[in-house]
Amino acid sequence: MLIGIDWGGTKIEAVALGEDGAVLARRRVPTPRDDYDACIAAASGLVRAIERSLGSAGTVGIGIPGAISPATGLVKNANSVWLNGRKLDDDLARALGRPVRIENDANCFALSEAIDGAGADARVVWAVILGTGAGSGIAVDQKVLVGPHRIAGEWGHNPLPWPRDDERPGPACFCGQHGCLETFISGTGLAADHSRRTGAAITAEEIVRLMRVGDGAARASYDLYLDRLARGMAHVIQILDPDVIVLGGGMSGVDELYRDLPERIAPWVFSDVFVTPVRKNRHGASSGVRGAAWLGAEAARSS
Ligand SMILES: [Zn+2]
Repeated sequence: MLIGIDWGGTKIEAVALGEDGAVLARRRVPTPRDDYDACIAAASGLVRAIERSLGSAGTVGIGIPGAISPATGLVKNANSVWLNGRKLDDDLARALGRPVRIENDANCFALSEAIDGAGADARVVWAVILGTGAGSGIAVDQKVLVGPHRIAGEWGHNPLPWPRDDERPGPACFCGQHGCLETFISGTGLAADHSRRTGAAITAEEIVRLMRVGDGAARASYDLYLDRLARGMAHVIQILDPDVIVLGGGMSGVDELYRDLPERIAPWVFSDVFVTPVRKNRHGASSGVRGAAWLGAEAARSS
């Protein structure tokens, strides 16, 4: 049995999967915000409750909105800031009496879609999350590509490629740079760009709704969004040349992207043809927690 935990800012969710990917149990609790010890107790409590209800023990994998620093062994880059600087894997392993595997939530998303999701037939899966922020994870042969700094796929903080004059230096990003892709291609970035150009402070969802009913300003914002996303993707495609691109996050619900993106990416790719499919994720909001569970199987396969 494979148990996965998705550690979000508002809820901690756990799922137990059978070896075939079937969901055996699912539980969630609100995240005890700003209370690290209570978070450890909540996560280990979920695992124990699942194991009691099913009468068996499982491996445990966790997806977090951050990463374990290879330099210090401590959590870094988490927007649930009370996790930063903590030895989360050790503390949870102690609470549960077994090793736990921790990965960035984008990597969990990639693993989930690579194992039995929209990229299950592909060798190299580039899983792109376009939500409040923008990031990605890469799975190769159904394993997460991690790297020595644990930042593989942190594409949201690459600059917007082939920038036009009015895109330089670009909006300030929380990471300290200007013009990071995230400030353009996240759902938040789309809303901010629309607001800068029109003065209308509306959400990305509302912009898409207006675009669909023929609003010219919303159409222009969507078109710019598409153009920037295509440039950003082409840049990575030229390095990774993935077999499939899977979209996740709030913007992945915009069905027009799957029709419009390939033809907008193609002119930027240094190739006579561009055939990489851009697909919607299969497991939706469950992909993060499913990928966390699959970390257990990955550990077993590689040991
Ligand atoms: Zn940045």
